[in-house]
Amino acid sequence: MFRGILISKDEAGYRSELTMLSEENLPAGDVLVRVLCSTINYKDALAITGRSPVVRRFPMVPGIDLVGEVEQSDCPAFQPGDQVLLNGFGVGEVHWGGLAEKARLRSDWLIPLPAGLTAREAMMVGTAGYTAMLCVMALEQHGVTPDQGDVLVTGANGGVGSFAVALLSRLGYRVVAVTGRPQEADYLTRLGAIEILPRSQFSEPGKPFQAERWAGAVDSVGSHTLANVLASTRYGGTVAACGLAQGADLPVSVMPFILRGVTLAGVDSVMRPAVDRIRAWNRLAELLDDRMLTDIAHEIELEQVQQTAQDLLDGKVRGRVLVNIG
Ligand code: NAP
Repeated sequence: MFRGILISKDEAGYRSELTMLSEENLPAGDVLVRVLCSTINYKDALAITGRSPVVRRFPMVPGIDLVGEVEQSDCPAFQPGDQVLLNGFGVGEVHWGGLAEKARLRSDWLIPLPAGLTAREAMMVGTAGYTAMLCVMALEQHGVTPDQGDVLVTGANGGVGSFAVALLSRLGYRVVAVTGRPQEADYLTRLGAIEILPRSQFSEPGKPFQAERWAGAVDSVGSHTLANVLASTRYGGTVAACGLAQGADLPVSVMPFILRGVTLAGVDSVMRPAVDRIRAWNRLAELLDDRMLTDIAHEIELEQVQQTAQDLLDGKVRGRVLVNIG
């Protein structure tokens, strides 16, 4: 038996609890891992609280991220004792996830823990930081370079936003951060933001075509915020969009695309092929340092997961949450 968070939905309603689970109930997979750490992402918080229908099979162990040590493996690529990393692939949504002491997983979802990162560091980064890296790589692939001017990061105090600020700054970009939490300005400055703008400047309906300001942007917010960012992106600029913290709508005109050649680059982390995952994680290992990670992330235990999920959706969590399991 082992401990884990279990989400159930039945006549008694939707609920999540910390409980004892049995290995026999783990779903099918060719690798059994002892989970060392996990995290709470926005999607995990939605699943744990039931605020959005993220979970598609019940009962479910949430947790879209984990680092674990292999206990048993039917796949020659992974041996007992290896440390492995998992992000996404529907884990924590349709397949039992990382917020438990054990997980049984498919080997093709796993990558080896990247050299240069400990299990704890990888989970401080988690899907949010890995997605921020994918967004930065999307800007690079579309030719956004530091000499072109300011780049904007929305939702800057969130998990994706914090890492986007830190990574872009580390790469030499002039980063402007957008936040609804001006009291966290010192934190954003430490991560490398050179200017901080209020969320209210972007979150309301705006003109479809605005003064050119951003060479590029990373947006995890969507809705009017993304529309205003696109409308104020400079000629030939790129906006990497990965989230919907404000909303899933996009009330935008075609003007930025047809008159300024702006690119809207969609970023998905969940089904990303292994080659992209490994490239992104190697870049993260190269660019991040301990000081930055400990500033962005704080640690909790399994007992605190439910309250923290609620706090995250209420906008009370800054940066990232590491869940210490093993
Ligand atoms: P998070 O830590 O909760 O951060 C979200 C941030 O968005 C908040 O900290 C807040 O930043 C801002 N925000 C929240 N509500 C807002 C609102 N109503 N209007 C404007 N800004 C608002 O979540 P996360 O883990 O960074 O994830 C952010 C988004 O990216 C989520 O929608 C998540 O689902 C998505 N995501 C997608 C992928 C993918 O594969 N595409 C991967 C990871 C995450 P401030 O307090 O600084 O304003």
